[in-house]
Amino acid sequence: MSLKNVLGQKQAVEFLLNEIRTNNVKHSYIFYGVKGVGKKFTAIEFAKSLLCDKPTNGYSCDICSHCEKISNNSHPDVIVVDTDYQERLLGKPDKQKNIKIDTIRYIKEQAFLAPYFGKYKIFIIDQAETLQKEAANSLLKLLEEPPKNCVFILITASLGVLPKTVVSRCELIKFLPFTKEVLKSLLKKEVDEVVFSSMEDTIYAEKIAELEKNLPNFNIYEIQGLAEELKKDKNLAKYFICRVINRILPDGLKEEIYDFILDSESYLKEFRYNIDVGLLIETILFRMRTLLCNKNLL
Ligand SMILES: [Zn+2]
Repeated sequence: MSLKNVLGQKQAVEFLLNEIRTNNVKHSYIFYGVKGVGKKFTAIEFAKSLLCDKPTNGYSCDICSHCEKISNNSHPDVIVVDTDYQERLLGKPDKQKNIKIDTIRYIKEQAFLAPYFGKYKIFIIDQAETLQKEAANSLLKLLEEPPKNCVFILITASLGVLPKTVVSRCELIKFLPFTKEVLKSLLKKEVDEVVFSSMEDTIYAEKIAELEKNLPNFNIYEIQGLAEELKKDKNLAKYFICRVINRILPDGLKEEIYDFILDSESYLKEFRYNIDVGLLIETILFRMRTLLCNKNLL
């Protein structure tokens, strides 16, 4: 993976590549835009581009030890601040999921240490809109007088919630909502890949095989029962739908089901956010049934 693998964000990627190519990397950036469009992924790939031993025209090589460590989230100079990181750092579960001043204090200490291996120390602060007031103020001081060789990347879906003083210190990079074409290619990729991963992943493969037995004729009761069962496990639901699309639908009908899923916008809402998965599954399975009936395949 490198910045080449970022989907649907040409403008943001070109901007970042240009920063590297013109040796104009700033101390702080804000990546903003709706949820689930690759902001964090891009931040991590940008970090690789910045630290890579053998970059090509701004793109990371993806095989050097810097790239490998960043991919595994084990590079000491790339710190991804999210709720998991904060829990590990502060050692207590946090129901509110806000970024606290203690976390920012720790980051500050780290920022003033020289990088361990790389040219930069990179701090990726995910869900920056959850910064508590004191934490945001403390971060502001850091952004006002950033230590040498530090790059801060704040990620947020709600730019307006961040203090204006923080925003004004950062280079803003907008991430656009995915177009239907991008969503379709993501969906196709998911459908293609899940066949292999579900075969390898024995727990899911077994469960899916068991569930498939309940879907011989796509009758209404079977579909409703399956949807009830699948809504309990979102991953299983996703794997199952992808596998059924892949195994049962002929290629011509696959396109129609992709369009159906995307047109109803349910794919985005249900699989990426938390709404009623059961209803979505039922809808998709019914649609598949109709498509198969129309072609006399059932
Ligand atoms: Zn590399």
